[in-house]
This record gives sequence, structure tokens and C-alpha cells, in this order.
Amino acid sequence: MEKTASRTRSLVGLVPEAGTERLSEPAHPAMIRVTLQRYPLNVTSQLEARLSTVLGGRTSAALNRGLGLQTVGDLLAHYPRRYAHRGELTALATLPLEENVTMVAEVLGVKERSMRSRKGNILEVTITDGSGLLTLTFFNQPWRVRDLKPGVRGIFAGKVSEYKGIRQLAHPDYELFDEDDSLHGTDAKTWASTPIPIYPATSTVASWQLQKSIAVVLDTLGDLADPLPPGVAAQRHLLDFRTALEKIHRPTEDADWKAARSSLRFQEAFLLQLALLEQRAVIRSQEATSRSSSPGGLLEQFDARLEFKLTSAQTQVGLEVAKDLAGSAPMNRLLQGEVGSGKTLVALRAMLTVAESGGQSALLAPTEVLAAQHLRSIARILGPELSAKLRPTLITGGLGVAERRKATLATVTGDARIVVGTHALLSENVEFFDLGLVVIDEQHRFGVEQREKLRLKGTRPPHVLVLTATPIPRTVAMTVFGDLEISTIAELPSGRAGIESFVVPLAEKPSWGDRIWQRIAEEVAAGRQAFVVCPAIDPSHSEGELEDAEGGSSTVVETLEALRKNPALKSARIEAVHGRLPSEEKDSIMRAFAEGAIDVLVATTVIEVGVDVPNATVMAVMDADRFGVSQLHQLRGRVGRGSAKGLCLLVTSAPEGTLGRERVEAVAATLDGFELAQKDLELRKEGDVLGSLQSGGRSSLKLLRVIKDADLILDARKAAESVLASDPKLAGHPALRQALDRRLDPEERDFLSKS
Ligand code: ADP
Ligand code: MG
Repeated sequence: MEKTASRTRSLVGLVPEAGTERLSEPAHPAMIRVTLQRYPLNVTSQLEARLSTVLGGRTSAALNRGLGLQTVGDLLAHYPRRYAHRGELTALATLPLEENVTMVAEVLGVKERSMRSRKGNILEVTITDGSGLLTLTFFNQPWRVRDLKPGVRGIFAGKVSEYKGIRQLAHPDYELFDEDDSLHGTDAKTWASTPIPIYPATSTVASWQLQKSIAVVLDTLGDLADPLPPGVAAQRHLLDFRTALEKIHRPTEDADWKAARSSLRFQEAFLLQLALLEQRAVIRSQEATSRSSSPGGLLEQFDARLEFKLTSAQTQVGLEVAKDLAGSAPMNRLLQGEVGSGKTLVALRAMLTVAESGGQSALLAPTEVLAAQHLRSIARILGPELSAKLRPTLITGGLGVAERRKATLATVTGDARIVVGTHALLSENVEFFDLGLVVIDEQHRFGVEQREKLRLKGTRPPHVLVLTATPIPRTVAMTVFGDLEISTIAELPSGRAGIESFVVPLAEKPSWGDRIWQRIAEEVAAGRQAFVVCPAIDPSHSEGELEDAEGGSSTVVETLEALRKNPALKSARIEAVHGRLPSEEKDSIMRAFAEGAIDVLVATTVIEVGVDVPNATVMAVMDADRFGVSQLHQLRGRVGRGSAKGLCLLVTSAPEGTLGRERVEAVAATLDGFELAQKDLELRKEGDVLGSLQSGGRSSLKLLRVIKDADLILDARKAAESVLASDPKLAGHPALRQALDRRLDPEERDFLSKS
């Protein structure tokens, strides 16, 4: 690593010339211009400067290669993972194998020996944290004994490996705390208590190399305008941006980095909320075709035909949707509600509203099975007369050529007012005559880009309604879907008997295994139907398995075979369905099950979403620990949809205390989807929650955690709302405007401008 050579390089364009202190109160307008001229560089250009303009070429190349850091701003936003102290040592016993670690430790002893099999020698250095030991090995570097003397402390970094049962670091990097360190006019106590930032490092860039590069950058950094409006920062006693950067990277005591972290964390939340609110404003400023229903129209005819009364939640949400549709800006709404709460019905009523003015609606489903089922139930609930007018049409990848041509023709002419499909609907040769509404069923299966593709299919931006049965905690919704309005259906239609859930822990109670099949046989004997869900199709294929699952899992093929041989189920009609069957076959099996011609359906998660068979009362989920919390909750929603009580058996061999088992227990413990969604988040790695938003890209979350920082996010949201309310374009907040533009990748910026 080049040392301070880079510090003395000419820092073209980075440091304001000497004597350019900002004039606080310009006495005359002309002076403002003078000030600006003497201060040619704004915050953006300082932070956007390539690292190679400040650091040596080799260093900046290493930072880019190892950590993807390209600009001064990237490096400064590479915050320490934690802080160590020279006085304290890092616990060695907990170091994870095969990972790059950075630790503070003390040299205990050094041994040099020659190798038996080949020429050369090995230096073995034992370091300690006071209790545990770790060996450092160096081949043919005997000169290191000069530095690594017993009693010396330092930071050591490397990949932990095991050799003959003893943990070691081979050829680690290290930086010793030499006496120089303590002689910079500080006493021993200060020296020992000064926090040492430990950075996320790689095998090629060590933590202290980052620390040094950042020090160089901080030394050259001019004044930085604070993106936070002064009032917002003052109210929360936040450090200004420049100070916070200094203190998070070069704290002199623990209080420094703590204050810096909370200031930067707030800034992060604030910028994120502002970006989402802006995105929402962009959508709202677009012009959509206003759609409303009128007396005697299609919606009224439909409502009159309905065999049941809308729940009050359906009525309420229906009004919210109708209001959006009637507006001149495109609707962009998320509708969340438990499985079976009647979301699809709300969506269908919205489609009828759009159809009244000749507009078309597209309903996008995650699977072919579900799309086909939607089409059938829509046709059924519309009745023959309305169906003839609206021509509900299916477009999926499984259609034959002739069928597909017919369907796409009906779509492009506008005859089909309701088009249901899978992502085949997104393909380029599907065109609409007048696409007014896009309904996306089960949001989490569709990426943002897919939503976007559909949005572009209208001549004007269509209204968008997203349905999800996975309730999203408020702060997550605000963080991930902050651009959407949210409606919630919190009640189920009356007359549902509910579901009972049990864990069947085969590890502790192997005999309960047989009880499952008896229980299913009893239901079948009573004229009911059952689902048996497996995580895999056959021993060589699995669908939707979790990474943390271990060992073999139940498969559809094997389970089908076993059930057909089971004497308890001798007279039951048992079939199987999974994602690898041709779509006609899948469809016909699902239909047969819906019609009661199949008693027990063995399936993968293809039945997860939306399948509606009120006569199905039992579900056994095999190896339930292999599914996610929300997946299990969705699956369970397939039973107990009629007037008979549902039973859900969550079968697992996972021992108590494992993550998989915890998920299963959580699902068995409650039917409340909101509670489960919260639990799910706690059990998952935070990174999975936000997907791409969390990892990679400049907008990824750095200090912010959506669960832990819920209050902070709410606070930041309010602050962002009030700033935008008084200054929608942020014209009076140039530093904020720049920070906001800077946090987006060009690609993201592009995306925002499209939506
Ligand atoms: P979701 O999409 O929320 O899972 P659906 O809209 O598919 O729920 O409704 C589930 C079932 O309940 C369907 O058979 C539907 O016809 C029926 N349903 C919807 N609303 C009501 C209601 N208000 N009263 C009784 N049944 C209803
Ligand atoms: Mg549904």
C-alpha cells in the first residue's frame, strides 16, 4: 500500500483554495457570485471524484477490485463494521472458520522450524486474546520475528483455517501497535481507549488499509454542505454531515462514532423516504384515463347478481379504489388482505368499472394454474350475460398457436375487456386496444421491472392494483413499496369456520407419522378433500427449497406412491400435481380436484397461491421446515375456506431450536398474517427482505435496518413529507437535491423517470 505519497499529490479539484472560507452573510448580491466562484466545487463533485484523483493508482485500483469502491463518496460511505480498542482483545474462540476476520490480539510466542519435506522454514506465531489461542503461520519469512515479539499487540487479519484441528491464519496481514502510536502526545489511557474502526475488508484490502485511505480522503475533503435541512437536523440533535463522516471514521472515543452513526442513519432513512415520495409524486403527476361507473352500468349489474353481501372492508376498499380510478392520475395501490378475504372480488369490481368506459383490464397471475383458475372463477361469478359482454380471455405460455392467436386478437381489438394471464402477458406480441387497469395478483412473485413492463403497455399509464396476501409490516411497506398507496382488508367473509394448525414433530414423535394418514382418511370418508404438500417433485428435483435446510426431503413422486399403497387410503382417489407437468395436465388435475373427482392431491407449492376449493379441509405439509413463513401461511390458506373447519398439519423432522423448526412453530402459533410477517422478518436475514434494494447499487441500505429502526423510518418519513410539502422540487435545498440524485445509479434514475 502506498503510504502518504498520495497525500502530497496535487489534489486537483478537490480542495478549495486557501482562504476561501464561506462568507456567512453576503452583504451584497454580487458577493454571492464571488463566493460561488471562489468555491467552484459543490458537494457532488467532491464526492463523485474518482478515488484515483486522491489516492495512488494502485490503491484505488485495489479498492475498486476488492470492494467495488470507485469514488470518494463510495469510500466514505464504507462505514466501519465495528470498533475495537487497543486495550481489549477480540475473542478468538468465536472466530468463524473460512471467513475473513479482523481482530485485535497479543503475540504470545514465536517458533521457527524448518520443514521436513521441502526446503525452507516456517514461522509459527501464537497470538492470544487472554484465553484462546490462534496460530499464525508464515513460510520462508523468518525476518518477521523482528516485529512479532511476545507482548506486542496489533490487528491481525486473514482467513481462518484449520490445520490438524488447530485454528490458524496462514500468511495473515497485520498491523502492530508500535510505540510510535502511543507517543503522539497522548497518554496511555487515551491510546488504549481510542476506538479502532474495523472495516468490512477482503483478502486483498485489509481493514487498516481502508482506514488509511479514508484518512487521506478525509484530510483532503473540503467543506461539505449538509443534505439535511438545518431544522430537521437541529430538532434531532444530529451532527452535520462533514462532522459525522469524520467521527464515524476517526472517532477519539466511543461516543463519537455512536453519535455519527445515528446521524448518518437518519440521513439514510431521510434520503430513502424522500426518494420514494418523489417517485410517488412522479407517478401522480402522470395523466391516466379517469374511469368511473354509472347507474345501470356493468358494475351495478354485477353487484345485483352477487350471491353474498360485500364485507364492510370490501366496501371500504372498493370506495378507495373507485376514487383512485376516477382520478386523473394513475392509481398505484397495494391491496393486502388475508388469503380468502375477498381481494380478487374487489379487483374484479374495479375491472368492471374500467370496462364501463370500454377500457380493458389485465390480471397478472404468478402461475398458469392460478391464471386458469382466475379465468374460470371470473367467468362463473360474472355469469353468462356479463361474460358475453366482457369476453374474459386467457393468455398463457401453454396456449396452442390457434388459441393464442384468437386470444391476442381479442385483446388488440379491445373485445376482451378482461385478459387474464401469466407473464406471457408481458411478451411483446400482446397488445391492448385500451389498457386501463393492471391487476397484479400476489405481488411478491413479480419484480419491479415486470410491473414496469405492463405499465408501458397502455397508451396512457394504466391504473395499477397490486394484490398481496402476505401482509407487509408498515415500515417495510414504506421502505420497499413506499411509492404505493396501501389498502387493507382485515376481515374475512363471515361463515368461515377457521383453521387449526399443529406441528407434527417427527424427530420427537415418530409414531405421529401414521396418524397423519389416518386423519386424512377420516376426512375423505366424511366426503372432504385433502392436500399433501411436498418440497420437492422427485429425488432429483426440488421446488422452493430454503438454503438452510439439510438432508433429503419428501417428494411428490415418492409420497404419491406411498399413499396409494397405504391401506387407510385404499378407496381414496389420489393424484399429484407439480410444476413439471404440461400445463393442460396440471389444469385438468386441478379442475378435477375442484370438482371433487380427486380426494387427495399431492402437490408442490404450485397450489400455494389462490387455489380455491372450499371442500378441502385438511392439509399436511411435509418437511414444513423447508418452506418460508409466508409460504406456509399461504399454503395453509388453501383449507378452511368453506363452512367446515380446516386442519393444517405441519410435519417436520427438524430438531427444536433450528431456524426451520422455529418457522414452523411460528406459523402453527398464530393465524394472524401480520404477526407472522413480522416474525418472518425477524427470522430472516435482513438482506432477503429488501432484495435488490438491500444489496448492491448505491441505494442499498447501509446503516438502516427496517425492523430495528422502524421508529426512525417513521420519523424520517414525516420529516421528508413536510420538506416536500413546502418545497416539492427541493429548489431551496440544493444540497439535498444533489444528495438525492447522487444516491441513485444511472439505471435507477432512468427507471424513476419512466415510472
Ligand atoms: P382472496 O383473493 O383474498 O384470497 P377471493 O376474492 O378469492 O379472496 O375470495 C375467496 C372466496 O370468498 C371466493 O370464493 C369468493 O367468491 C368468496 N367471497 C368473496 N367475498 C365474499 C363475501 N363478501 N362474502 C362471502 N364470500 C365471499
Ligand atoms: Mg386471491
